[in-house]
Amino acid sequence: MHSKRRLTEDRLARVLNERLRPAVHGRTVPLRVAVWDAPGEPVPVAEALAAPYRPIEVGHRWGPVWSTSWFRITGRVPDEWAGQRVEAVLDIGFNKTGPGFSAEGLVHRADGTVVKALHPRNAWVTVAEHASGGEEFTYYIEAAANPVLCDDHLPTRAGDRPGWLTAGGVDPEPLYRVLRADLAVLDRGLWELVQDFDVLGGLIRELPEHDQRGWQLLGFVERALDAVDLGDLSGSAAAARAALVPAFAPPAAPSAHRLSAVGHAHIDTAWLWPVRETVRKVARTVANVVQLMDDHPSFRFVMSQAQQLAWLKESRPQLYARVREKVTGGQFLPVGSLWVEPDTNITGGEALARQLIHGKRFYLAEFGVETEEMWLPDTFGYNAAMPQLMKLAGVRWFLTQKISWNTTNRFPHHTFWWEGLDGTRIFTHFPPVDSYNCEVSGAEVALAVANFQDKGAASCSLMPFGYGDGGGGPNREMLARAERLADLEGSARVVIESPARFFERAHAEYPDAPVWVGELYLEFHRGTLTSQLRTKQGNRRSEHLLREAELWAATAAVRTGFAYPYQALDRLWKTVLLHQFHDILPGSSIAWVHQEAEQAHAAVLAELDGIVGAAQQALAGEGRQEIVFNAAPFARDGVPALGAVPRGGPAARRVAPVPEADGFVLDNGLVRVRIDRRGLVTSARDLTADREALAPGTVGNLLQLHQDFPNQYDAWDIDEFYRNTVRDLVEAESVDIRDGAVRVVRRFGTSRVEQEISLTEGSKRLDIATEIDWHETEKLLKAAFPLDLRAEHSSAEIPFGHVRRPTHTNTSWDAAKFEFCAHRFLHLGERGWGAALVNDSTYGHEVTRDVRPDGGTTTTARLSLLRAPRFPDPEADQGHHRLRYALVLGADIADAVREGYGFNQPERVVTGAAAAVVPLVAVDSDAVVVEVVKLADDGSGDVVVRLYEALGGRAAAVLGAGFPVASAAVTDLLERALEPLHPTADRIGLTLRPFQVLTVRLRRPDA
Ligand SMILES: [Zn+2]
Repeated sequence: MHSKRRLTEDRLARVLNERLRPAVHGRTVPLRVAVWDAPGEPVPVAEALAAPYRPIEVGHRWGPVWSTSWFRITGRVPDEWAGQRVEAVLDIGFNKTGPGFSAEGLVHRADGTVVKALHPRNAWVTVAEHASGGEEFTYYIEAAANPVLCDDHLPTRAGDRPGWLTAGGVDPEPLYRVLRADLAVLDRGLWELVQDFDVLGGLIRELPEHDQRGWQLLGFVERALDAVDLGDLSGSAAAARAALVPAFAPPAAPSAHRLSAVGHAHIDTAWLWPVRETVRKVARTVANVVQLMDDHPSFRFVMSQAQQLAWLKESRPQLYARVREKVTGGQFLPVGSLWVEPDTNITGGEALARQLIHGKRFYLAEFGVETEEMWLPDTFGYNAAMPQLMKLAGVRWFLTQKISWNTTNRFPHHTFWWEGLDGTRIFTHFPPVDSYNCEVSGAEVALAVANFQDKGAASCSLMPFGYGDGGGGPNREMLARAERLADLEGSARVVIESPARFFERAHAEYPDAPVWVGELYLEFHRGTLTSQLRTKQGNRRSEHLLREAELWAATAAVRTGFAYPYQALDRLWKTVLLHQFHDILPGSSIAWVHQEAEQAHAAVLAELDGIVGAAQQALAGEGRQEIVFNAAPFARDGVPALGAVPRGGPAARRVAPVPEADGFVLDNGLVRVRIDRRGLVTSARDLTADREALAPGTVGNLLQLHQDFPNQYDAWDIDEFYRNTVRDLVEAESVDIRDGAVRVVRRFGTSRVEQEISLTEGSKRLDIATEIDWHETEKLLKAAFPLDLRAEHSSAEIPFGHVRRPTHTNTSWDAAKFEFCAHRFLHLGERGWGAALVNDSTYGHEVTRDVRPDGGTTTTARLSLLRAPRFPDPEADQGHHRLRYALVLGADIADAVREGYGFNQPERVVTGAAAAVVPLVAVDSDAVVVEVVKLADDGSGDVVVRLYEALGGRAAAVLGAGFPVASAAVTDLLERALEPLHPTADRIGLTLRPFQVLTVRLRRPDA
């Protein structure tokens, strides 16, 4: 038989795209359109409805970048359309970019209530379900002129806020043009035929040549095409559909893969748009979703970031009320358990706990829903502490697909148990469709089946469908496809259902799924550990100051009756959590977003400083004595952890640098450091161990500049070839002594760096304070420490613990981790001796090693200090920066943990009365770290303590309370009791497994 496959496929494509699709809205009359251009930022709906509109024609240009225009459309349904479904079809200038990345609109009735939204794949709005003819109507469209920024990933000033744009001389020309404004009849029969052809065409393309079913379907399609009368499309649709009935008759094979299709709209909380636009994006997506739910009772939609619903509640109460209805009806499903979808490399441990606490609490309070999954499809890698945090928040399941973006290794499972640092396992699924923005196309369904790596043991996977990133969500065409693919021979079964149903089923059929131990490292986007330093610093400072504010406020509340600032802390935490979103904290947003993040952090820090100051003053009382407060979880300088004492003697001082023939010496009896005339550290000797830290012939704190021009995503990626070229910054403009430190000034390009290298009495920590005027482009600045060490692995701090990574590159998995995340410390050691690098601002790190001719091993650790990517923010990281890091000699892990805290949580001195402040709690083990002391969120006055085992071993410890304890309990992260504890004389014996996180709630006797 002669093959007509290609011929029929091409015929279908042409008839479908050129004739049938355009004819769906075939009968039209033009609408009257008027416009009002809102000045500046978006305005409330009432203001827009009352504004003066002026008539315009189709073709009207509108929308300077980031502006808002309101369109008023009015029309009258022709009498002869009685009985038809009548829709307004509106194209406000949608270009080829997908939904969420260009112009978007939200349609309102004249009374200000919301109808639905408009985007390129959802450009209609219902006027009459069954027209009676003659009805008149008016709609108002709030149209956002959001620029297209994702087309070519080239530097653009359009990501800045509009005021700045004007000053910068950027084109205020309109971006968009109104292309269509029609009233139209929806030809239902034709629309259904389009969906039939679309699904069958998609299935045929995916079926292999040798498959009988593909050929059979081709035959049905050809007969249906024959039935289409190109001169009377509407009239012939029914006959064409009838020819396709037998195509849809046979059910899916009994062994067919089952796809749980879950409606979704990934809405980046900020990215190529500012936060204020996300608030509107949420309203637009939700408007479409609840409207679609009205028409399709089986439709299920998940929404994953509590913050977004909190915005909706505030900005669009009427729409929010509809969400509540749909949650009650089981169609709208809050998922994810998180406040936003945060970055999980850089976000601190306690902040991740608060993401869960505030996320879950919002869903519980607003909807009575206890979410049980973590939903992070797009975050750039997942730290090894997360399984435990999930479990402690009552989360059972985890979903992402981002690891499919790995550029080196293919992850071996799609369904598996993820085992974290402490041994907690969470049932995890990576949708094999490798996307969170599916359209339910034949290609996607086929990819999910082909790609699924657990076929032998499991038969189901999840498919999130709906336009995302910039929002949009599912449309009616996707639902039509899902309906047709529910049980169709040749296809996987596509079943719309909730993630909970999917996870229950997946777990039940695959309880012994394979186990992946440790972090889920994303082999991509490594530059996000470094880009936009100021945003990262703001987060780091905020996390530490929140810890301190809660500690001192709780201490003052218990000791003095100080009013614990519940509401302020709740609000400040939520601000910090918002800016941990996975395009803000990683530094991958437009300039506008990062400017606002810096301002938000500054305001948070100022308010927290006020809280800390007030609480400490309440504790210190009135007087002239200097009181030293130590918020660190370790005693230092004679001040107990989490307490305060009157200053006993002079504060520890920097040792004076001593000039010598070719440089300077810093020596405090514990450590001797030599710095040469170029300002380079030529020797760092641990005098107690009698050991040189630096490898022979090398220098420490060597600043190195690399070209940094990745192949794809500027702010996101560091590509490994950056290492091929390097410029060592060895020339100094000046090297001298200032304020007890060796001060080194270097200039390179148009930048200037000033470093103060200092050593304090009684410390083995060499401090390097850095100030940089940074004006480079596409460069990466690193600080290198080549250590004379044979370290098999590095230990990097992560939330609530540390991970070991090999220093070698034996496997492709090891080699791919050429840039990794460490929080406050990176430790390197061999038996008996080690060193740590601690920092107050840096996350990107790398370790390489080399064997020298003398047989020794040089292990080089480098901190990634600054980048200068140009997309999406062409000015990223330009300007002035201050940061600190330090080399700690002779450090073991416990030293690294202690120095990391100490470096980030400095002592504070307050003048007051001479009494000491007894800590609220104390722990008698160096391995057990108190991360949090606070009052319970329920306002009961209970003291909540969160602690963890930090060294990676079993730890027995006694938690002593510095106040009377009536009862005590271990709780989950939400401070709900799990099991009682039995204090004896206000002391509680605890045993923690390696890296265990424990929350203890201490009830005080009623006053
Ligand atoms: Zn995202």
